[in-house]
Amino acid sequence: QTRENVVLHVADVQKNFGGLRALSDVDLQVEEGKTHAIIGPNGAGKSTLLNVIIGRIPPSSGAVIFDGTILTGKAPHEINQLGISRVFQTPEIFADLSVLQNVMTPAFARRDGAFKINMLRSVESEKGIREEAEHMLEDVGLIHLREAHAGALSRGDKRRLELGMCLIQKPRLLLLDEPTAGMSRHDTNTTIELLKKIKSRGMTKVIIEHDMHVVFSLADKISVLAQGRIIASGLPQEIKEDPRVQEAYLGG
Ligand code: ADP
Ligand code: MG
Repeated sequence: QTRENVVLHVADVQKNFGGLRALSDVDLQVEEGKTHAIIGPNGAGKSTLLNVIIGRIPPSSGAVIFDGTILTGKAPHEINQLGISRVFQTPEIFADLSVLQNVMTPAFARRDGAFKINMLRSVESEKGIREEAEHMLEDVGLIHLREAHAGALSRGDKRRLELGMCLIQKPRLLLLDEPTAGMSRHDTNTTIELLKKIKSRGMTKVIIEHDMHVVFSLADKISVLAQGRIIASGLPQEIKEDPRVQEAYLGG
């Protein structure tokens, strides 16, 4: 049963890899406009859950429902076109293109419906997209690097670039897999500020994160995954004080 105001429902999902059960009875309801964090120790099944949502991994049973549409069985690009965008644990960018071109590419894709090259693309719309991309680079703090080769960016800057590439698609749901992994404390704080700014624009987010500072700065709701099961779900304060969570994760 999906509650009202729930935009993403992971309904009773199981995932087996051979004899290994990576996800068991996972039921997750993400409310519109909220930031829902998923925490848990290494190997808990967090990335698997994310990959099930975006269609990279088919669940063994159960379903994922987005805004009334069953995603299960759809290809990743179809799910993306429904308004779901994700930032990977390892950035996926076009290393040989400039930073600006990287951000313009998904903007064209959003407009044209696919990554196709449109030879009749008007100079006018190209200019509009360039301006939009430049605004996005300002938002993610990369405008000074707009002509640099994306492949030459630092690790933190690559992650910021990938975030910009996701945001310019104007997704309804943004999925983030450890967005601050490998970042310095300074870059982490900049990213938190950026994600807070997005939050004020009403975008729904699911964030997988190890860093408790990030989780407690951003999350409206937290679900704890341990050994493929959701062992607790609640407000940040409730999760902080839950003895099962402290045992399974925070203390461990
Ligand atoms: P997390 O992201 O929480 O660290 P994962 O979702 O990556 O955890 O992994 C959950 C479990 O599933 C781990 O035991 C992992 O070894 C296993 N696993 C993940 N992907 C695969 C795969 N493609 N094939 C086999 N086992 C996998
Ligand atoms: Mg992972």
